[in-house]
Amino acid sequence: MAARSWSGGLRAVLRAGPVPGRPRGLASSGWPWGEPGAWLRRKLLGPSQPPFQRVCLVGDPVLRGVAAPVEPERVGSAEVQRLIARLVAVMRKEDCVGLSAPQLGVPLQVFVAEFRGPPLRQELPEGLRALEVAPFPLRVFLNPTMRVLDSRASFFTEGCASLPGFSAVVARHMAVEVSGLNEAGEETTWQARGFAARVVQHEMDHIKGILYVDKMESGTFSCLHWAKVNR
Ligand SMILES: [Zn+2]
Repeated sequence: MAARSWSGGLRAVLRAGPVPGRPRGLASSGWPWGEPGAWLRRKLLGPSQPPFQRVCLVGDPVLRGVAAPVEPERVGSAEVQRLIARLVAVMRKEDCVGLSAPQLGVPLQVFVAEFRGPPLRQELPEGLRALEVAPFPLRVFLNPTMRVLDSRASFFTEGCASLPGFSAVVARHMAVEVSGLNEAGEETTWQARGFAARVVQHEMDHIKGILYVDKMESGTFSCLHWAKVNR
């Protein structure tokens, strides 16, 4: 694929609202121009190319485009395998539970999801058990399609790495089935419930250029750091 078609960037990461996770801001390094090492790399090597090692932010047109399918015969190519590896690495680095290719600037129908959850010895709070927040292993989907298994609405907090520092309650279907190709190019299906179903719906939306703010309960939209300014 030509480099230009890999331009743009959409990334979105779902984070489990009440699940402990480190807060992130626009300038987590404390340097207004970003990490000094990254600045030096840009000066020496020029701007990075997709798939980026960072998440693109809302406003980037790639976040609003409809991603293209991956040609099945190209799933094993170095280019696609590199994209999948980068998605997994950035998802883990950012402490996210899902990440789609557009979020790294690649407008292709690919997403990864993984929730390693709290340590096994740590009990989930009652509220999270009711919402079926449970760890799930790494999943990779290319050209995913989704159907609803349980259309009852589930309300829960969502965040997105493309809108760092904010969250809102979003209604999602209780259970969905997602089908597509895995990283080996094999047909795969996942029946996801509760929190896992939410992750799937969030990432499927990214592939269609939809962000959680398009579906949120707008009165719940919050800055994660609102309480700090009152201290
Ligand atoms: Zn997102």
